[in-house]
Formats: sequence, structure tokens, C-alpha cells
Amino acid sequence: MARLTPMLRQYLEVKERYPDAIVFFRMGDFYEMFFEDAEIAARVLEIALTSRDKGAEEKVPMCGVPVVSASTYLARLVQAGYKVAICEQVEDPRTAKGLVRREVVRVVTPGLYVEDEGLESKSHNYIASLVIERDQAGLAVVDLSTGHFRVTEVPLEGALGELFRLEPRELLLPEGLRESSLTGKILQSLPGVFLSFDDLENLSRGRAEVLIKEHYQVATLAAFGLDGLGPGVRAAGGLLRYLSETQKGHLPHLKPPLFYRLSQFMLIDETTKRNLELLKSLSGERRGSLISVLDRTRTPMGGRLLKHWILYPLLDRAAIEERLSAVELLLADGYLRERLSGGLAEVYDLERLNARVAMKTATPRDLLALKSSLLRIPHLKEALTGKGGVLGRLAEEMAPLPELVDLIARAIREEAPASLKDGGVIKEGFNPELDEYLRLRQDAAGFLAEIERRERARTGIPNLKLGFNKVFGYFIEVTKSQLSKVPEDYIRKQTLVSAERFITPELKTFEEKVLSAEEKSKALEQKIFEEIRQKAAAFGPKIQQTAQAVAVLDVLVSLAEVAEERDYCRPEILDEPIIEIKEGRHPVVEAFLPSGAFVPNDLRLDHEDHLLLIITGPNMAGKSTVLRQTALIVLLAQMGSFVPAQKARIGLVDRIFTRVGASDALSRGQSTFMVEMTECAHILHQASSRSLVILDEIGRGTATYDGLSIAWAVAEYLLEKDGRGVKTLFATHYHELTEMARLSEKVKNFNIAVKEWNDQVIFLHRLQPGPANRSYGIQVAALAGVPQPVIRRAKEILRRLEAGEFEILTGMARKGSRKRLRGRQLDLFSPDNLLKQRLQEIDIDQLTPIEALNILAELKRLA
Ligand code: ADP
Repeated sequence: MARLTPMLRQYLEVKERYPDAIVFFRMGDFYEMFFEDAEIAARVLEIALTSRDKGAEEKVPMCGVPVVSASTYLARLVQAGYKVAICEQVEDPRTAKGLVRREVVRVVTPGLYVEDEGLESKSHNYIASLVIERDQAGLAVVDLSTGHFRVTEVPLEGALGELFRLEPRELLLPEGLRESSLTGKILQSLPGVFLSFDDLENLSRGRAEVLIKEHYQVATLAAFGLDGLGPGVRAAGGLLRYLSETQKGHLPHLKPPLFYRLSQFMLIDETTKRNLELLKSLSGERRGSLISVLDRTRTPMGGRLLKHWILYPLLDRAAIEERLSAVELLLADGYLRERLSGGLAEVYDLERLNARVAMKTATPRDLLALKSSLLRIPHLKEALTGKGGVLGRLAEEMAPLPELVDLIARAIREEAPASLKDGGVIKEGFNPELDEYLRLRQDAAGFLAEIERRERARTGIPNLKLGFNKVFGYFIEVTKSQLSKVPEDYIRKQTLVSAERFITPELKTFEEKVLSAEEKSKALEQKIFEEIRQKAAAFGPKIQQTAQAVAVLDVLVSLAEVAEERDYCRPEILDEPIIEIKEGRHPVVEAFLPSGAFVPNDLRLDHEDHLLLIITGPNMAGKSTVLRQTALIVLLAQMGSFVPAQKARIGLVDRIFTRVGASDALSRGQSTFMVEMTECAHILHQASSRSLVILDEIGRGTATYDGLSIAWAVAEYLLEKDGRGVKTLFATHYHELTEMARLSEKVKNFNIAVKEWNDQVIFLHRLQPGPANRSYGIQVAALAGVPQPVIRRAKEILRRLEAGEFEILTGMARKGSRKRLRGRQLDLFSPDNLLKQRLQEIDIDQLTPIEALNILAELKRLA
């Protein structure tokens, strides 16, 4: 250590305090990295790794990035999952005695990143914290780039689902969970999440409360509705502490924590969010998702809010109706909509601009963007006045902030450069001292010409020239032939081949004045700019409020546009638990088909005679589509959107459960069947009489008998659950399930119509009452190109199966075949079949005597 240069020693001291971060060590116009940090950065950023002898025994590896383009490099490191500590020079190198003092001013992680370069404009960049107390979890979530801050408390088993809904980029967990199985599960659900650990276990509720109260300068937590909370307060306090430590207190834009309860919104869990392809399709793209159809927003905050509305549909009828009424009004008034959308298109990301202003990273161009956005606000307000309802309220919430607009307009040049470094930011006439410097610089040219003229006259040298160069400054140049005329007071500076250069005391004084004026004016511009930024920061809460109102307006206009273009209708929201859809369509499938090609379908669910709909039909008929479109229409209605239907009456649904098709969970090392059953168990436990359950092909991942038995039992359970049953759509290839309709009047069979034509199947995609004709599967196989002999044989087997000749076929004929009840279906459950199946499952080589006895007892019970 002692042998290192003082600078490197200073670096190592900083590094010691931030061992897990890459330190960006400011040296002049660069951030330098050393040792291992340099090696990592050089690889990730693809920049040259050099090495320098800094007094160490071996050469020190180093690399650097220019400060002006640092945010791009920072984004890349952070996206690659690294933590970066930014260490600045905190005193002026010109006035510093000895080594310049340096301090870490900000720590950046994926969840703490706020620069535009690395952020998707229409997504939140969340950092969440989790605190667990027995079976309760406290969850706090912040988007530092916008200032949003929300807190909730959930039963522990709901915490993962909520985390998945939020999809934070970073999660702050208690130290003790570092090696826990919970952390493992989190990583499975949120691959790529950046984990940070902090001593949250020892953060008491009292201490957390103090942290929050101090930060927001409030006397009680009641102001935020947090007073009754335990782990929620600790999660919020812990997150606040982490943010203040990493941002060194630069958090003035953080909004007060907003408490929410899961029960205020329709619950959308991990499976449903994925299966209904809300934000991305099953293949992981935006294309093919619900949001890809819905999103016509023009501002980044509108885009973010739309996502939030999709993930948090409402349960409050009045609030839903308010949104619907606003959409209806905007739908009806195309002129208003056009005016609004024109204005919205010119509003920049007010939330993120505001955050950068507060965090003192806003550039001159950011302030200009803030100004031009604010200039649109009066226009939006004016268009909305007198509209009443939500729209009228939004108009009131928007603040055009003319003082701020005026300040920026007077101070900042329209063509200001992106960086402050070279000046040219502040307008003339804004600050007298700055104007003085500017004048001096402008006058310099005239002044120099004046000296040249005078010196030529005084010396009689006609080609005497005044010039400037970076090394020698201002000079007077005299050619060799004229040297004899040079007066006494000229001081020789430089000799060239054909001329000599001189300086005079007058010129020297002038030079000092000009150069220092330039320095001073740059410093002054910086100071003035910072003052303006500071003043802008004082408008923070108003800007945030305006941004929020703009976001809501943007989403409403977007919903109205989609409703108009796609011919959606206003859903009727009911308190009774009914879902009735006339000519409903799937919003996304429809969008991918030629206009008019989608076949609309009617559907009704209630607790009397349409509680459980069993939908059968061959593959590709459109079963999944009907299921999903029903769920999506309900979700759209409750988020306040019009819906793709001719008419829809929607009784509020508290939760949508889905169990759809094969899941990508296979890659997580669980068997398909296990995943399916886990999801199924979750539904059976959680579904209430206000829920909507969508089951697509359950029981498929196992042997037929198992699968069918499970499917049957699941359906029965849902039919009876809590006495009222749960509204369920059940698509299945187990034809046997259609028998349930005979056992309960609450069960109805539906199938998707297909037509035979020239021995081919034509899918009509029309939902119709009654079970499907079971033979279509074979025709679909023929369509798919399965060879004719196989198709013929399959038809033969099917015919025999339907005739009850199963045993003959398999060569397991039994004498005295029993009379069959209701065809083959129930036969599957006959004691003989169950016995046979159980016997086949036994592996005698693996049995212990005790197990053998147990199985015997079991078989006896089955017989
Ligand atoms: P299933 O679940 O019965 O196998 P899907 O619901 O996946 O069938 O539908 C298969 C394809 O049929 C869809 O991708 C879509 O292209 C088309 N389709 C489904 N329903 C309709 C409909 N109502 N109108 C038009 N095309 C449809």
C-alpha cells in the first residue's frame, strides 16, 4: 500500500467501502476503473484495457470512459447486472491543495438506474423490498426514475404472486434470506432480477417509522394510511434507507408511499398474467399480447399507466363506471380526441424529467423538454374544461406552471448543447455579469484589430499581424525582413522560419482578461443553470401531479381510439355474479385476422344453470380462444375499457384463475404434470364464488385414467365450492366429462361447431350447445397428413370402442361381459378397470412385504 501512488491509495480506500461495486473513479474528463473492476468493465463495455505503473509491484490494469458519454456505459454495466459506485471529485482541482478530495455520490444498480438510455420508456423500473413476519409479508416498491412509491401487506403465500405482477428489476431482501429456498423460488419466478441484501431483520418497526416520518417531515404515518401496518412499514422504511444510502439523500422527488391492499383490485397472479398474454405473448414478445392491441398511448407515462391498469383491474363499480364514461365521451367526440392526442404527442416524459431535475442530473436539454411539455398543458386543459367527470377533474389537476416555463424560456438557449461543459447554455440578457463576459469576448475581435492597426502605424511595419495560438496565446508576428523596425518594448516569444513572434505587456494583460472571462463565464453558466434546476425542483410535486393527470388522459384517449377502431362496446357492470357476452371476440386473435374473419360467440355464466361450462371439440376448433376471450373481456371491463363484443354484462370478478395448456415451467425442472397440479391446487384453494376459473385441458400430463379422474373431481369441487360454486369454463378432450351435465343442472355442455365436407373438417369456430361429436379428432389427424391406412384403422377402433368392445380390442376379453351403464364413459371407473390398472402399476421387484400387504388391502377395497 505504502508504495502505491497517493491517488491509487485514495482509490483503494473508496473501493474498500464499496467492495461489491465497480467504482467509477473520476479523473478529469474520465471515469477510470482499476484492477479487477477494469478487467470486468473492459470485457462488458468492449473498451481497451491498459495498464500503468502506479508504484505497484506489478502494473495496474485500468480502463476509462469519458464523463460526457458515461451514462451509456453505465447503462450497459447495470444491464449486465453490475453495481456501480460513482466517485466524483468533490472539490475544484484548481484550488485543491494536494490530492483532490473524492467521494462516492451515487450508487447505481439495475433498480436504481434513472438515465433514459437504459430504460424502456413505457415500463416502470421497480425496486422492491420484502420483509417477512411469520406468515405476513410487507412489500414496498419504488420506481426511482419516476418517484412512484407503493406499499402493501400480503399473506406470505401471496407475496411471490404480487412480486411477479410488479416484476421488479431489483429486490432488496433481508440478509438472512441469502441462502434460503424462498430466494431460490424468487429467482425462478423472476429470472434476471438483481438481488440486494440488507440487514432488514434488525430494522424495527419503530425505527422504520422514524425513517419514513423524517424523510417526509410528517408527524404520523396516518398521513399515508400506513399506521396500522407492521411488516409493510418495515419494508418501506428499509427501502427508504437503502435509497438514501445509495443516492446520498438525493430523493426529493420520491412521492409519499401509497398504501394499497390486494383486495382493492382484481387479483392477477403469475400464471394468469402469463397465460392471458397480458404484457407479452407466451413466446415472450410484445407482439401478440393484449397490450400490443390496446396501447395507443402517446406519452411514456401513459404507456406505464396503461400497463398498471391492465395488471390492476378495479373492483369498485363506481370507479370503473367513471373510466367507462370518460372513454364513452372521448369515443363520441372525435374532434376532442384529435385535439387531445395532438397535444399529448408533444408531451415528453414529465415524470422522468422531473426525477432528473430532483436528482440534479437534468441537462439543459432536459429543461427545454420540460418547458415544451408544460407549454402543451394549457391546450389540454382548455380542451377538457367543462367536460365534467374524470376528464374535468384531470383538467383541474394539470398545472401549466407558467412561472417555470417563463424562467426556462428566458434562461436557456433553444440550441443549448447536451452538456453543460462548454457553455453556450444561458441566453443573453438573463444575467448581467454573464453578459459582461460575453461582451468582452465579442469585443475582443474589434479590440485586437485596433491594436494591429495602431502597431502597424507606430512601427511602420505594413505586414505586422496579430494572431493567437493555444500554447503561446496572443502574439504579434513580424517577418524576418522587417525585424529591424521592431521597437524596444516587444518581447520575443517564438522564432519561425520566416518570422518572429512577439508579445507586449498590453497584449499580455488583454489575453489574461479574455481567457479568464471565458473560464469565468463557463463557471457562471454552470452556477446559473444549477440555480434554475434548483428552482425547477421546487415545482416537483406539481409536475408529478400534472404528469399523473396527463397519463390518465393519455390512457383514456388510447382506450377510446381502440374502441372506435375495433368496434368495442361499453360493458354493463353488475353487482350480481353473472357474465353475459353477446358476440364476444378475442381482442388479440381478432387483430391478427382479416377484418370480419373472426367468428364472434355468445356466452353466459351464472350460479344457476350456467355455472360450469364444459367445452369440447377437436384441436384447433377454438376452445382456448373462447376461454381466453371471456377472461380478457372481463378484465378489460374492470380496467375501464370498452370490450370486443356486441353487448356485455359483467358481474364484478375478484380474481381470474387460469390453467392453460403446456406451461414453460418445464424449463424450471418441474414436470408438466407437477406444474399443472400445483396450479390446480392453487385454484382450488383460492377461488371464491366471485372468481372466474378457466381450465384448459387439465389432467393431460398423466395417464388417461388418472387425468380423467382428476379432471372430474376438480370440476365437481368447483361446482360445489363454498356452497355457491365457482364460475368455470372447462375445455377438455376428455369426452367423458360431458356426462357431468346429466348429474347437475348447473353444468352445461358446449362444443365448437365443425363441418364435414369432402371428408375434411372445416372449423366454424362457433360455440354451440351440446357435446362434440367425438370422431373429429381423427379427421383432424387426416387433415394433418397422417397416412390413410392409419386413419382407416383409427376409425375402426373408434367404432368398436363406442360399441363397448374395448376388451376385445386389447385381447383382454372377460367372460360374461357386464351390461354397461350409460355407454363407455362410466365403464372407465368400473372396479374391474381400476383394479386392472392398479395391478399393472405394481412393480413386484420393488415391494417390501408390508407394502404388499397394504396393496392387497387396497385392492380388496377396490374390488
Ligand atoms: P383449440 O383450443 O380448440 O385447440 P384454439 O382456440 O387454439 O383452438 O384456436 C385455434 C386457431 O383457430 C386460433 O389460433 C385462431 O386462428 C382460430 N380461431 C379460434 N377461434 C376463432 C374464431 N372465433 N374466429 C376465427 N378464428 C378462430
